[in-house]
Amino acid sequence: MEDLREIVLDQARLGGACAVGIATVETLEGGPESTDIRQLLPGARSAISFAYTLDAGPIDLYLSKKDRAPHERNNIDVNNLVSGAALNLAGYIEMKGHKSVPVIANNYYRSDTPGGLLDMLPDISLRYLAVRSGVGCFGLSGNVIIPEHGATVILGATITTAEFEPTEPLPPEKNYCDGCCLCMASCASGTMDPDELTTVTMGGKAFEYSKRKSYLRCEYVCGGFTGLHPSGKWSTWSPGRFEIPEEDEAFGPALMNGLAKYGEWPDMGGGYYHSLSPHKMFITCGNCQLVCHPKKEERQRRFQLLKEAGVVVQNENGSVEAVPPEEAIQKMEAMDPQRRAMYEDIE
Ligand code: SF4
Ligand code: SF4
Repeated sequence: MEDLREIVLDQARLGGACAVGIATVETLEGGPESTDIRQLLPGARSAISFAYTLDAGPIDLYLSKKDRAPHERNNIDVNNLVSGAALNLAGYIEMKGHKSVPVIANNYYRSDTPGGLLDMLPDISLRYLAVRSGVGCFGLSGNVIIPEHGATVILGATITTAEFEPTEPLPPEKNYCDGCCLCMASCASGTMDPDELTTVTMGGKAFEYSKRKSYLRCEYVCGGFTGLHPSGKWSTWSPGRFEIPEEDEAFGPALMNGLAKYGEWPDMGGGYYHSLSPHKMFITCGNCQLVCHPKKEERQRRFQLLKEAGVVVQNENGSVEAVPPEEAIQKMEAMDPQRRAMYEDIE
């Protein structure tokens, strides 16, 4: 079994993973429901957790609002790569005599919670598996950060009945998060609570990150329905101008309103289909992840790119462009009322 463990870890690395680890039923014990790997595979004993990096070049183009498409393309490709790598690893371990299943990297939710699929809860949390197995650590953002690669990774996992020895979480000195809060400053939705932490205990070890306010905040902004930062100075790649409420309770109605109008927008090009949306979706945020680089100066540089890139507006042909905030206001005011109402609530 020791040989198979080493081969499986090597196989994951050879497949392109930048970090790999193993969590087990014991090391995940006491964690949230989404750490129970037996839900996905009865009799499961171990999870091989791994991460693939996103390309850095497209991130600069994306944050500086020069071009959205290359990062979206890379993000979709890496997600597909990670799901495929999980499947390949599952196939390999299964051929060695142990039942194994892949975890889909993203956009797959359990249906047995009170709100069903709309709760958008994953059956297995790839983040918890990654942190407990030492693939990465929690940053204050709650994203998994990897010492050499930052938060710009896509996580994957394969669950198996094979009994592998676990890997240890990374020691605290490997966690580069210094509480710079640039993840929060990059978030137009206020999803991360700046004042409170959440603690998760798995296998007797405690992990902390900023408490999440309502997840609907991220769904509203990262979903692309709106994106103007409350300062009015910069936006995500969304051309939506619907107000971002202060209270958590207001996000449900805001999301419904945004979703209805979003369906009227012309196609901005690219995109992907999400099972919970009647309309094609586009990657327009992810800022908290994209700014978080291991080097503080690079984090600051990326945040500056975002802050100085201006505000996105959509042209009639669907293309989106970033312009200075004052110009964005003029462009919105120059739209005929019917078109303008697709992007913002007007009297
Ligand atoms: S942006 Fe700063 S505070 Fe946020 S997770 Fe990264 S290092 Fe930590
Ligand atoms: S993805 Fe965007 S909206 Fe969601 S938490 Fe990160 S910065 Fe905020």
